Amino acid sequence: MTDAYTRFVRSGPGRFIASRAGLPRPAPLPRRGDRPEPVLGPVVVLGESEGADAVAHLLLSWGADVRRRFEELRTVGSVVAVLDEVSTPSDLGRILLPLAGAMRSLAPGARVVTISRPARGEDPARDAARGGVEGFLRSLAHEMRGGATANGVLVADGVGLDAPGVTGALRFLLSARSAFVAGQFLTVSREAGSATGDAAAPLAGRTALVTGAARGIGAAIARTLAADGARLVVLDVPAAGTELSRLANELRAVPIQLDVTSDGAGDRLISFLRERSLVLDAVVLNAGITRDKLFANMTPQKWDPVLAVNIASQITLTEALIEAGDVLGDQPRVVSLASTSGIAGNRGQTNYAASKAGVIAFVEALAARLEPVGGTANAVAPGFIETEMTARMPAVSREVARRLNSLQQGGLPVDVAEAISFLSSAEAGGLRGETLRVCGQNLVGR
Ligand code: NAD
Repeated sequence: MTDAYTRFVRSGPGRFIASRAGLPRPAPLPRRGDRPEPVLGPVVVLGESEGADAVAHLLLSWGADVRRRFEELRTVGSVVAVLDEVSTPSDLGRILLPLAGAMRSLAPGARVVTISRPARGEDPARDAARGGVEGFLRSLAHEMRGGATANGVLVADGVGLDAPGVTGALRFLLSARSAFVAGQFLTVSREAGSATGDAAAPLAGRTALVTGAARGIGAAIARTLAADGARLVVLDVPAAGTELSRLANELRAVPIQLDVTSDGAGDRLISFLRERSLVLDAVVLNAGITRDKLFANMTPQKWDPVLAVNIASQITLTEALIEAGDVLGDQPRVVSLASTSGIAGNRGQTNYAASKAGVIAFVEALAARLEPVGGTANAVAPGFIETEMTARMPAVSREVARRLNSLQQGGLPVDVAEAISFLSSAEAGGLRGETLRVCGQNLVGR
């Protein structure tokens, strides 16, 4: 789905006019169908630590064309800068500056990924170096061209660079699955999780529930999880029953018509699962609504349903699933839908932003609640995604929202779905209470 402006500036006359007038010229973003291989080669691994050697070996085991220098390379597909042992800010230039000379050789859709450790407030020089990686990466991401992206993995002290979460995050960020993720960090805080047996079907043998699955992002999540091998339970309101049945038939999924805000929704879901002997390995809390109004015009009719669907239902459903004791699998993954509005706020969305900021705090607390059973909870915060929800925005605000990110375009529902698939996987166990933005490095917020 390409918007009309993007189609125009990719046409002959449009390209000429846009280049003369300095207008945004969004590049095509390769997605998994365009680029199925896990790593675009050749991949250059920068860094001098044992961790850098281990990452180079990992990439070799994935069949990548791995180099340790840029020398003689005319095109570079990916760069992984391993900065796990930096101890003073002057270490950064030694490892990173070789990339400066290679920036113009990056292929369309290239990937740059840093691997570093988070600052801990203990060692001033080391923390300055570690913090410096974040500033570097976020700025570099704004300078990427041709649909290329830059992102980082932060690995807590004590967690090895070979932990499942690090491997999974690296695989996700290097692949075309992270097409609309730019300027972001994923923090791996635990060794927990288990390696993926089959990278082509990372969710094989797992059962996932997706709420709000009848259309939009929810339908894309269901399709992507199914393509990754999951068995699905798809949920939506009775009014969306026809679309839900169609999707369930397409994916051989089990449909359940349920309003997540209705009284006893949790009990009905649990009975439904028990009757069919279904045990959930992943729960994707996607159902969401907007009722935008300036706060001066806000009423309970606009406020209450947004808080009820977007956050209160998530609390009651997850609480019921945990309390039931027999409907969640080992090491369950909960993934919830936040929004960049919940991070940066948005005019006319006090109700929506309250609910989505609530989601961000909720997953942190829920991750702690699930930790004793080896489970985890995380959120994905989409920026501007091309769906029916955003198609209803006023035309000018929609066009501005679409361009205000490093990739100068809206994302697709599948981009959100890809991030959710990774966070639903067995590998993602070391990521706890994270909120991953899928926003093309939207200029709002951090
Ligand atoms: P959408 O309106 O296209 O789809 C939402 C789905 O949720 C619908 O199928 C709807 O029937 C279902 N739903 C609503 N209330 C429900 C209830 N009470 N019980 C069960 N199902 C219910 O929206 P979308 O754009 O696909 O958004 C999906 C999620 O992503 C939402 O949580 C939304 O807040 C979030 N999000 C979207 C964007 C975007 O740009 N589209 C950006 C940030 C966050």
